[in-house]
Amino acid sequence: MRTRILSGLFLILSLMSGAAFAQLGQAQRITGDIFGFTARTRNGANIYSVRRPSPAMLSAIDQGLTNLFAVARKNGYSRRLNYSDYTIFIANADRNRDSAGRYSPDIAVGAAQYAGTDYDQGGYVYAAGMVISFNPMTFVIAEHTRDFNRVSDVVRYEGEHLVLYHNDRRRYSQTADHSQGGGHPILQ
Ligand SMILES: [Zn+2]
Repeated sequence: MRTRILSGLFLILSLMSGAAFAQLGQAQRITGDIFGFTARTRNGANIYSVRRPSPAMLSAIDQGLTNLFAVARKNGYSRRLNYSDYTIFIANADRNRDSAGRYSPDIAVGAAQYAGTDYDQGGYVYAAGMVISFNPMTFVIAEHTRDFNRVSDVVRYEGEHLVLYHNDRRRYSQTADHSQGGGHPILQ
C-alpha cells in the first residue's frame, strides 16, 4: 500500500519539470486554485490546470505562442522562442464578464502598482493574464469555454513581457508596468 502511494507521488513529481515546480506553489497562492492536471500542447508548451484542459484551449495556447514567436523574430529577437520554454497555468476565472457585459474570463490579482488607478477594484484588479516568473518562464491565464481567439491573444500578450525580458531588457522595463500607460500588443 505504502509503495503504491509513493510510486503515485513519484509519478506526479516526475511529470513536473523541476524548474517549474517552485512556480506551482506561487501560482496556487496567487490564484487560490489547485493545479491538479498537467499536459503538454501539441507543440510542446507545458500546462498546469485546474481541470483537464480542452483541446481548444491547448491549440489556442499554441496559436498564441506561434503568433508571439513570429512577431518576436520580426523584431530581431531570437532567445527563448521554443514552445517547451513556456509553462502556462490555466486557472479558474474570477469573473466571466467584463464591466461592459462581454465574455471575458479574467483572474483577480492583488492591486500592487495598480492601487488607486482606474484598474483598482478595491485591493485587487482583474487581469486577463499575469506573469508568474521569468526563469523559468511561467504565466497564468483563465480557463475559457469559448472565444478561444482571446486565449491566443492573452498568451501572446503575457509572452511579450517574457520575450522582452530575455531579449531587450530596456524595452522590457519601459513596458512592464501598464499603470503608467501603454498596453498590448507591445510588439508590432
Ligand atoms: Zn502586460
